[in-house]
Formats: sequence, C-alpha cells, structure tokens
Amino acid sequence: MKKEKCPMCKKSSSSKFEPFCSEKCANKDLGNWLTGKYYIPGEKVNDEMINENPEIIDIIKKDKLDF
Ligand SMILES: [Zn+2]
Repeated sequence: MKKEKCPMCKKSSSSKFEPFCSEKCANKDLGNWLTGKYYIPGEKVNDEMINENPEIIDIIKKDKLDF
C-alpha cells in the first residue's frame, strides 16, 4: 500500500480520512468540488484550471473520490 499525501495541504494522509489528512481538508476539498472549482466528470479541464490546481491531475487519474 503506497503512502498518499493530502491533496489539500500535502501532509501525510490519515487512513480515516483518505486521501486527506483530516476531516477539515476533506471538507475543504468537497467544498471546492461543490463550488465547481475542480474538475467535474464529463467536463473539459482547461489549462488554466490545471495551472491553478496542479493536484487536479491526480484527481483525474484517480478518476473518482470516495465521498
Ligand atoms: Zn490536509
């Protein structure tokens, strides 16, 4: 099992809140998704989004998050 890092703050993730380090970061990320900041399945990701949110690549590679 590989070590994941929190996509929000880059700290080591907690098994309880994978892939995040804490509930706080998990909620923050969920909030970003809900407000449309992040990639939405089925929609194109433009270069600007990737430049602003490099972690978006990891999210796309993982394809889906367990919420
Ligand atoms: Zn974190």
